[in-house]
Amino acid sequence: MLTLEEALKLSPQALEEYKCELAQRVLEKSELNAYVSAPKSSGAGAPILIKDNINVKGWEITCGSQILQGYIAPYNATAIDRLHQHSMCAFGLANMDEFAMGSTSESSCYGPVKNPRDTDHVPGGSSGGCASAVAGGVAIAALGSDTGGSIRQPASYCGCVGLKPTYGRVSRYGLVAYSSSLDQIGPITQNVRDCAILLDAISGHDPKDSTSVVLEASQTFKHLDPKRALRIGVLEEALKDASVEVQKAYTDSLHILEKMGHTLVSQRIGDHKHHIAAYYILSTAEACSNLARFDGVRYGKRLKGKDLKELYIKTRSKGFGAEVKRRIMLGNFVLSSGYYEAYYLKAQRARAHIVHEYKRLFEDAEVIFAPVAPCVAPEFNAHATPLEMYLSDIYTVGVNLAGLPAISLPVAYHGKLPIGMQFIGPAFEEQRILDVAYGLEEILELEG
Ligand code: GLN
Repeated sequence: MLTLEEALKLSPQALEEYKCELAQRVLEKSELNAYVSAPKSSGAGAPILIKDNINVKGWEITCGSQILQGYIAPYNATAIDRLHQHSMCAFGLANMDEFAMGSTSESSCYGPVKNPRDTDHVPGGSSGGCASAVAGGVAIAALGSDTGGSIRQPASYCGCVGLKPTYGRVSRYGLVAYSSSLDQIGPITQNVRDCAILLDAISGHDPKDSTSVVLEASQTFKHLDPKRALRIGVLEEALKDASVEVQKAYTDSLHILEKMGHTLVSQRIGDHKHHIAAYYILSTAEACSNLARFDGVRYGKRLKGKDLKELYIKTRSKGFGAEVKRRIMLGNFVLSSGYYEAYYLKAQRARAHIVHEYKRLFEDAEVIFAPVAPCVAPEFNAHATPLEMYLSDIYTVGVNLAGLPAISLPVAYHGKLPIGMQFIGPAFEEQRILDVAYGLEEILELEG
């Protein structure tokens, strides 16, 4: 498989030929179920796989949900326009958990996605199609979305690189909203350099998204410094929630980082379990409001009823899957009178506390090193309850609540299954986390 860096050097004609080959390969590897349909191209340029919740003009965008079947995007997301401005294009749509709610990519209306490293295991979620395709050799690179870990965790489970940008770094215009105060679009790639190239292309202020930030100097991430020595925050105590293999991968990586010349600083963060509680209250509260628009009147599928109310009920009951309905109910519950103060407001306070806690950590460290997930990719149907699945997000959701950038990269294997670790940076310090990840990737490659 070509890297993105290599693909960008091909002549337009060679690139078109390559895309034909790639489409063929996607068919041959249809067992992965990483694409929602046979791929097509949005124009000339290097092909980038797009998660099925990012609008590509004229394409049917469904967020892996029956309710959006038949919805044709009337415009491009800003991230897609930016691909076109940087000699890239959208090439195919990636399967995902319905409305990006999930950690396993088992809840799509197109069926579950498989992990290319071992097809009995999930690829992670919700950007499971993106990570499965990149790791499985059927996509050069992909754009996913990360609300609570959906780029980093599937990258970790499948063994590729995934970056969640600082909130406001990348425009959300044209990304179907799950939880607007947490969502970010970001790259899933074969290596750190490609990740920097793709992030570079999609970053920047967009007048169409008022939460996208205007930065003084125009930043580019193309020049990476693998030798940059940093003070790295180590969260040993947090490891108690991780499996033995993940713990070992973490400590082994620490030794390598130290040998590379980084300084390790031991740090403590309050109980990560509060992160999960705050995240699942705030994200569902925002989701129930964002998903209220899918009622059969304007978007996608409509089921007829004897009156408007019945039309709504039938469309939403049939159109949404079980996990999405669970979250809509949870969101309405935490916002309802009497519970609003007890849950929603309390979770907002917890969020402010988490922001503060990360600020404190960054007084002492330049980046923080943490696991991405407490275990390797589980088998299908491994979570007995939804809560069990939610708990597997323990290391990722805090980063979204604090709006920080984080990059996940593979550092070890347990049998056939990869283990990823993440570098978390202060807001808008993507350069720093890319540099340190690039250095670690280089050493790991040398060591084979
Ligand atoms: N697994 C988390 C959830 O289910 C994160 C999803 C995401 O980042 N889109 O909400």
